[in-house]
Amino acid sequence: MAAVLLVEDDETIGSLLESALRMHDYDVMWSRTGGDALRRMQIDEYDIVLLDLGLPDLDGIEVCRRARGITPDALIIMITARTQEMDVVVGLEVGADDYLTKPLRLRELLARLHAHLRRGTSSVVPLRVGEMVVQVAARRVTLSGDEIALRPKEFDLLHRLAQEPGAAISRDTLMADVWDTHWRGSTKTLDVHIVTLRRKLAGAATSSAPAPTITTVRGYGYRLELPAP
Ligand code: CA
Repeated sequence: MAAVLLVEDDETIGSLLESALRMHDYDVMWSRTGGDALRRMQIDEYDIVLLDLGLPDLDGIEVCRRARGITPDALIIMITARTQEMDVVVGLEVGADDYLTKPLRLRELLARLHAHLRRGTSSVVPLRVGEMVVQVAARRVTLSGDEIALRPKEFDLLHRLAQEPGAAISRDTLMADVWDTHWRGSTKTLDVHIVTLRRKLAGAATSSAPAPTITTVRGYGYRLELPAP
């Protein structure tokens, strides 16, 4: 049973989400403030943090940043109003894995949670791209043996790209395989994750261990390049 920390100050939305999640076998703890949510994260472990960005006490982005520090392995899913696009970009930068926009559709929320959890279990075959090794079962990426710390979605995205190094993979395919099969919304989250992946790969590279790079294929998607020999 997956443990969800629901962070939402709105009583109507909160109680709706709480009962819907319970009905679908999630173990739900509901926090109405950012401060309370951060305290609970320090006490208990959660698989998923469902974080409304509009909270009465703390800025939702700040809660997200601190939550990532407290609970590095939890999936953090932001809930935001459609008008707050900048929040989404910043939130993904500070460690959120995904976002949903209000008004929330329960079916979409449940489908996403299910998809996230399903992908938590993967095969055991390590993938090698140059000096980089993607250990699928352990969810670790190393470059010449040194681990590159990745967020869960960054790992999933790099894993997907590394399955076909040198091949262009379309945005639709990446969104479907890494996020949700039926996702029809904004794909900004993909670009943000590419930006952070590129930065982390470049940061881990050394002269003796060049990292693979990610090329933008304009109007199509992305391609993981083998490092130059
Ligand atoms: Ca709110």
